[in-house]
Amino acid sequence: MPLHYLTLPVTPFQQNCSLLWCDETRDAALIDPGGELPKLLSAVKAQDLSLKAIWLTHAHIDHAGGAGQLAREQGLPIIGPHPGDQFWIDGLAKQSQMFGFPAAESFTPTRWLADGDTVEIGRQTLSVRHCPGHTPGHVVFHSAAIQRAFVGDVLFAGSIGRTDFPGGDHATLIRSITERLWPMGDETVFIPGHGPESSFGQERRSNPYVRGT
Ligand SMILES: [Zn+2]
Ligand SMILES: [Zn+2]
Repeated sequence: MPLHYLTLPVTPFQQNCSLLWCDETRDAALIDPGGELPKLLSAVKAQDLSLKAIWLTHAHIDHAGGAGQLAREQGLPIIGPHPGDQFWIDGLAKQSQMFGFPAAESFTPTRWLADGDTVEIGRQTLSVRHCPGHTPGHVVFHSAAIQRAFVGDVLFAGSIGRTDFPGGDHATLIRSITERLWPMGDETVFIPGHGPESSFGQERRSNPYVRGT
């Protein structure tokens, strides 16, 4: 496999931060470092990786809460999310207070993402799909090479993302799933922001929110 990853649940919300690396170069990215930075950095060290970037699916506190501090301390670029999540980034301090998280450092993404962009780690390239609905600026990272998608809070095993937050929209979320995730193929395994992995085919067969779509 040209790419490897480890899933590291962080924060009281057990958010699935993914440590993703290129097998050839051992360059790594952390997807959604929501918190518990010492735990994430020791995983990087244990795998003997060179951490190059932070990638964000969206700017909810459990996904983006550790990004500012990690970027500052390690000198890393923050890639993503889509500019639709600017208001969630602006509201990180308020989100920390609301959920009793440690105060999140604010940040400005080094690079905003748009639908159809690509991101690179080592010699591997992943494609970016804009998947609004849970948040307006939510993005998903897809590797065709290993048939994996890092989908944040768009889709879960047996469920879908909440749409009752500001900027959320149910119909938009369903369109993101059916028009932007399903074309990645039924065999594609996805790593959700919370809970266990599943495949798109499995969800199309059995997920009550998107069954038969
Ligand atoms: Zn979220
Ligand atoms: Zn989440």
